[in-house]
Amino acid sequence: MPQDAKKWQELEYVIRQVSRIYNFEEIRTPIFEASELFHRGVGDTSDIVKKETYDFEDRGKRMITLRPEGTASIVRSVIENKLYSTSAQPLKVFYYGPMFRYERPQKGRQRQFHQFGAEAIGLKSALVDSEMIAYATTFLLALKIPNVIVKVNSLGDLPSKEAYITALKDYLRPHVKTLCHDCQRRFDENPLRVLDCKIDKDNPVLHKAPKPLDYLTEADRSHFDEVLANLDEMNIKYFIDKNLVRGLDYYTHTVFELETDLESLGAQSTLGGGGRYNSLSETLDGPKLPAVGFAFGMERLLLAIDGLNKKPDTEYIHAFLIALGSVAKTKALAITEMLRHGGLVVEYDYQDRNLKAQFKQAEKYNPMFYLIYGEDEIKDNVVNVKNAKTGEQDRIPLEELYENLVLKIRQYSTGCSDACDGCEEDC
Ligand code: AMP
Repeated sequence: MPQDAKKWQELEYVIRQVSRIYNFEEIRTPIFEASELFHRGVGDTSDIVKKETYDFEDRGKRMITLRPEGTASIVRSVIENKLYSTSAQPLKVFYYGPMFRYERPQKGRQRQFHQFGAEAIGLKSALVDSEMIAYATTFLLALKIPNVIVKVNSLGDLPSKEAYITALKDYLRPHVKTLCHDCQRRFDENPLRVLDCKIDKDNPVLHKAPKPLDYLTEADRSHFDEVLANLDEMNIKYFIDKNLVRGLDYYTHTVFELETDLESLGAQSTLGGGGRYNSLSETLDGPKLPAVGFAFGMERLLLAIDGLNKKPDTEYIHAFLIALGSVAKTKALAITEMLRHGGLVVEYDYQDRNLKAQFKQAEKYNPMFYLIYGEDEIKDNVVNVKNAKTGEQDRIPLEELYENLVLKIRQYSTGCSDACDGCEEDC
């Protein structure tokens, strides 16, 4: 709906501004991809690919999938277009657009939803992990979302991750029957996800389960320590959540999530999350490309923003032209056109109605000024300009209308007196 689209545009504006500051460039990838990309990239055992993708066979008998997330497509594109060999290191890109997951719809969880995400591809430095967390927190700061909690954890690189998974499975094996239905399946296919299961979160078996941090190799531990030290240096508050693992198979090393306690979000308090994925490119037959990324759910961000109870900025148009009589009507269209070419937002009444009816129509647009143009005005070659706030009226010669209106709009917006010509005073 138009009133919603405005909120989306504002959100997209902040996405672009913050991304510009961190020097990330936009990338746009297709909405659908070969299914194999997600099966290999995101992981056949992840819930997302196992149960939630929209897969279709097209008329050429190819299996295609509506993208459930952005990262796999971007890495595919980077490999296919050899962007890694031409770009600065790391390659820094952001995206936003629709994603599709066959989930149970509820507040903050849709089957078609939108994500804003970013990827820094090509370096394994802990500085990049830290910068991505800074970028994600600055973004929420720019949206003025309060009480943001940054949760971080590390899974380590593949050897740490594998050692941990073996230990976790050994520990869980005798307790599998106490786990929820999904986790009994995950135990074999994707045991990491048992750790952050929402159903089993109060199961004492999980409280005592080994944690990924305890299985990090020395090198992986020092990578994580470096990330934390960088966050401290930047004064970014975080909380180490030892159970944080995230839903996609490709994560290695640092994982993070950002949440807030705003009531408007209901049960879905996670606004976004991400982490490092050092092996995804090789999984997709590309070169070694260590990378870090994150993604935010845009619907959730909008729910959070709505929950702030901010008074929406009143949307103005600059002027509404009320023309009386058929001659004035035709000339009014030309005047409207002239003002629009000068960059002003102007509306007028398309129907031949009386003054009162046109004022009523004009009010719906919330104009700063009414421009009244009837027989008298045509005769004198003027337009009657009425300030919608104060009711003051001026007859302005047609050839001076544009300049006069620009000045009046400036005075209207700044609240300066009529005598003021838009000075630098903060009045
Ligand atoms: P993920 O790609 O699973 O790491 O999700 C990143 C973010 O996308 C989440 O924190 C949510 O804000 C959002 N998200 C994921 N799935 C959905 C969904 N089905 N509906 C709305 N937002 C979602």
